[in-house]
Amino acid sequence: MKNIIMVTGGTGYIGLWIVKKLLGKGYTVRVTVRDKNKKEKIELLKNIEKRSDGKLEIYEADLLKEGTFDKAAKGADAIIHVASPFTLKFKDPVKDLIDPAVKGTVNVLNAANKSGSVKKIILTSSVAAVHGDTVDMKNLGLKEFTEEHFNESSSKKHQPYYYSKVTAEKKAWELYESQDNWELVVINPSFVMGPMLTPYSISESIILIKELVGGKYFLGVPELNFGFVDVRDVAEAHIFALEKRDAKGRYILVERVESMMGLSDIIKKLYPKKFKLPLMKIPKWVVLLLGWVFGQPFKFVMKNVGYPLKFNNKKSVEELGLKYTDFETTIKDMVEQMKEMKLI
Ligand code: NDP
Repeated sequence: MKNIIMVTGGTGYIGLWIVKKLLGKGYTVRVTVRDKNKKEKIELLKNIEKRSDGKLEIYEADLLKEGTFDKAAKGADAIIHVASPFTLKFKDPVKDLIDPAVKGTVNVLNAANKSGSVKKIILTSSVAAVHGDTVDMKNLGLKEFTEEHFNESSSKKHQPYYYSKVTAEKKAWELYESQDNWELVVINPSFVMGPMLTPYSISESIILIKELVGGKYFLGVPELNFGFVDVRDVAEAHIFALEKRDAKGRYILVERVESMMGLSDIIKKLYPKKFKLPLMKIPKWVVLLLGWVFGQPFKFVMKNVGYPLKFNNKKSVEELGLKYTDFETTIKDMVEQMKEMKLI
């Protein structure tokens, strides 16, 4: 019998791909969902199970409710902890982002401690736990970010999503050091793109493409650079980390760094004249002046617009054996699928 793997956040954009790959390999997958009554999300999971050799089990658990992961963890061999809010639309950064990320990680890792069965945990962190503002690279005198670096510049008030990820990851390493029953491997993806298995995710990955092709930035985009990676590669990296005995530490996942305008140009090349894509790159001083239009505070613009960004992905290639999907293929597959799902 194949091992039992518990997956949190299995209803989400990245989580569903991980669940699909695990079920495809014949694992028994225990997915924890926040609300079992969300029939449409459960249905998606069951449809994936039907077309696989694996077995699906569904448990209810909330990141914020202590002890709710205990039942699902009991008897599981490993946990892939994906769940965490990835949204820029929050009212209270502590309640909406930081608490679910940090308390959620503590609750899941404590469930592993109590289980007596869990031997390995894979945590979905982010490059947001590696760096904060784009200007950090220059300020720290670095040529690139590697797995050695931890975000030191985000806070509850400034870039709270980034802060939620670095605080949760640090907590996970701290709890790992306090026990010797399970191994911890951390996956640090950059901005994830590519086709989705769910139309219900509110992930910023999907929102970015919806807004870009939907004309929100028609007049122009600021010079913002991001690392990008394919969602299918992110799922694959989680499986490699789970299955490879010598997978160790953190793994930055990035295929390439691209600017918002670069991303838009890729879509424009694939679909000339189809979408209301940005006309140009907007100079920093205009972005500062119109900050409120883009919804970005002065400090964010000052520290992120117009700076280069570079990551080293060597460890993921050499140790995990990850073969990255070309970013243009990622975007083509994503846009095609969003058109099919009538999301754009
Ligand atoms: P989604 O919004 O699609 O998925 C988030 C998942 O977390 C959902 O399954 C959601 O469950 C679950 N969740 C949120 N809050 C709670 C809660 N209080 N209790 C239980 N479950 C909860 O986002 P993504 O798939 O994009 O993100 C998944 C992970 O990947 C996150 O940890 C994110 O930080 C990380 N990540 C994402 C990147 C990206 O570009 N997308 C880049 C790097 C890291 P429900 O269905 O109930 O809402």
